[in-house]
Amino acid sequence: MKRRTCRKCGRRRYLKFFAKNKGSKDGHIHTCKDCHRKYTQKHYERNKLVYKERAASWYHENHEVAKAAKLKAARRFREKHPEKARASSRAYKKANPQKCAEYENRRRARKMHTQVEPVDRREIYERDNGCCHLCGNPVTFRAMELDHVIPLSRGGTHTKNNLKVAHAICNRRKWANIA
Ligand SMILES: [Zn+2]
Ligand SMILES: [Zn+2]
Repeated sequence: MKRRTCRKCGRRRYLKFFAKNKGSKDGHIHTCKDCHRKYTQKHYERNKLVYKERAASWYHENHEVAKAAKLKAARRFREKHPEKARASSRAYKKANPQKCAEYENRRRARKMHTQVEPVDRREIYERDNGCCHLCGNPVTFRAMELDHVIPLSRGGTHTKNNLKVAHAICNRRKWANIA
């Protein structure tokens, strides 16, 4: 097996310790992986702020554009293949019921101009020990609904403190009694 001498530390090491580089004669760089890593780390430390700023500005400029392009493509697809789009959104909803429920809840809460915070539905499920707060019986994560204890329509917020685990059916019953 071929060896070479590292230009930095002077050790003779097998070629596999030298990173590949198409630009150099035999296809490997002249400093061993350990020395190279040390060098890039130092370089990074010295230029950390520059890199961070660059990454932040890239994200700022590009992610909005990328997001807009994605939305536009999705809209075009929906217009062209409405049936397929509906089927795929149904399938998504079936596979991710809680995600979709959360999305719907947030949209409703925003419409009511009440406070909306990011809600981890799994966390609330665990906090409530997987039991419906209306009847006290267990409910699966998949099937649960999150009940706004103070209804959004009465100024309740979409926040952890105002959300409790409920059966869909118990939730309906509560609503029927309120109305
Ligand atoms: Zn070395
Ligand atoms: Zn219940």
